[in-house]
Amino acid sequence: MFSFWSRIWVPLLLMLTVCRGETVKTKVLVLGAGMAGISAARSLNQSGLTDFVILESAGRVGGRLWKVQFGGKTIDIGGNWIHGISDDNPVWAMVKSYNMTGTVTNWDNIKVRNGSGQDVTPQWHAVLASLDEPTEAAYDLAVERNATGQPDMPLRAALKLGGWNPGSSMEKAVEYANYDWNYGEEPDVSTLLRGELDPTYELFGEEEYFLTDPRGYVYIIEQMAESFLAGNDQRLKLNKTVTTIRWGDDGVTVTTKDGSTYTADFAVVTFSMGVLQSNAVEFVPGLPDWKREAISRVRMALYTTIYLKFPSKFWDDDEYIVYVGDRRGYYTVWQNMEAEGLFPAGTNIILVTLIGEEARRVEAQSDEATQAEIMAVLRVMYGPGIPDPGDILVPRWEQDPLFRGSFANWGVGIDDEVLRKLQAPVAGRLFFAGDGTGVHYGYLQGAFFEGARVAGAIGTCLRGGPCEEGYQPPRRGCTCPAADNFDRQATVDNGSCQYPTSGAGRIWRFSVSSYILVVAAFAFNDMV
Ligand SMILES: Cc1cc2nc3c(=O)[nH]c(=O)nc-3n(C[C@H](O)[C@H](O)[C@H](O)COP(=O)(O)OP(=O)(O)OC[C@H]3O[C@@H](n4cnc5c(N)ncnc54)[C@H](O)[C@@H]3O)c2cc1C
Repeated sequence: MFSFWSRIWVPLLLMLTVCRGETVKTKVLVLGAGMAGISAARSLNQSGLTDFVILESAGRVGGRLWKVQFGGKTIDIGGNWIHGISDDNPVWAMVKSYNMTGTVTNWDNIKVRNGSGQDVTPQWHAVLASLDEPTEAAYDLAVERNATGQPDMPLRAALKLGGWNPGSSMEKAVEYANYDWNYGEEPDVSTLLRGELDPTYELFGEEEYFLTDPRGYVYIIEQMAESFLAGNDQRLKLNKTVTTIRWGDDGVTVTTKDGSTYTADFAVVTFSMGVLQSNAVEFVPGLPDWKREAISRVRMALYTTIYLKFPSKFWDDDEYIVYVGDRRGYYTVWQNMEAEGLFPAGTNIILVTLIGEEARRVEAQSDEATQAEIMAVLRVMYGPGIPDPGDILVPRWEQDPLFRGSFANWGVGIDDEVLRKLQAPVAGRLFFAGDGTGVHYGYLQGAFFEGARVAGAIGTCLRGGPCEEGYQPPRRGCTCPAADNFDRQATVDNGSCQYPTSGAGRIWRFSVSSYILVVAAFAFNDMV
């Protein structure tokens, strides 16, 4: 028979063991299993570095690619477009190889209704045409400023210089649909240089594909993960919430909420910029100022897609429906989910998107209150007799502690130096990758490339090649060009570095460096 003490101590010891979690040692820790994390781990694996562990807080892979069941359909509440449908875009290459259903977005397939519900589509096209010249002027200005090394400016200022001063509700709606709806933020805070010279559009083209595949957009990440993780592979640990990251010259130790401890030579942090800015994860010691500055300069846009399921369809047949009301960005852009190439007729689902403050406001209120607002707008457009929806889905990306927003939007002034700070590892041990750390910011392919980039850097170091040390501030008056890490083309004049101002040279380097990034990512992923 058990003694009195053993009856108390044995269960206590068992409890302590369970609560303390596991202790694991590995070469590389990948923190987060969204696109960047899975891309990093896959690249490590493909290069023969199989000793890694992925820690993910959710019970699934995919991160901001997230499918749910709604109204009898699989819908994506996170990313749902492929931006740039060229075979050079790895995301499109995967979507194409899996024959994923969807349609190429057609912005001309649109119906526009005003605050009285009248069809004002011809007026929309006229105002849209008047935005052409200011848009071209903004692009030319971006090219010129980039070529001559002049600083960035807000997109709003460039549009104003091009003669765009939206005053009417229609002009505001046109601007909103063209800019806010893309960047997730107003032109006032978006960058002219990075936005207008967006390498995703320059390299992969401007066409966009909206997915409606029943497997969900996340299928491509699931397939990437399956390509290197066996059924119950212990290198992928779900439901592991990272709370502390201790770093130093000799490696990294990560603690999770369940008391587990993981040590490694290197770690790849792929949490969203919103999560990093929220201080939900403690870094010990705190991150250096240069890294904190870079992280805090990336904006986390809020983009909320609200789905509604009705008993019957009463809206226009066009792919897009725009509501031009008095309030800018108030339930402005709608998507008819039954338009050609999307869901079949009879699905009765419509989607409306909110951005920024409007999205934040809706996140904070009840779904019933949001539904009432939406129905008031729909009744303006389609009359008082339309039915109430049977169901509504309002995602809350900013309130979610695993994301704290929707996607990265680079604000004004993220120049090459800030980019270096974003990408440089801390102490040569702690690497950062995600949709906020590279030039394809805010896109899925950005997260893909960034994961592959850091895996390449770690792989090179582990194989005895040069190891990335960390950020070194630009040294003025140095022996240029070789010793200057700010601009290798710089020369010395009177003891200070002079940077080239020739337009062709700078544009060439900007595009070529983006291209090299793409090719390098592909090449690395093809390595076995
Ligand atoms: C509403 C919306 C619409 C979008 N639309 C598009 C689009 O149409 N096209 C496009 O290309 N992109 C779109 N995006 C952006 C795209 O989804 C992201 O750029 C991409 O998914 C980011 O991948 P990531 O790996 O960098 O980050 P994430 O996907 O955020 O991955 C990070 C992972 O870290 C995990 N994590 C966070 N905190 C912790 C912690 N403490 N411990 C452990 N794990 C943690 C998270 O759960 C997550 O899985 C959209 C995003 C949203 C939200």
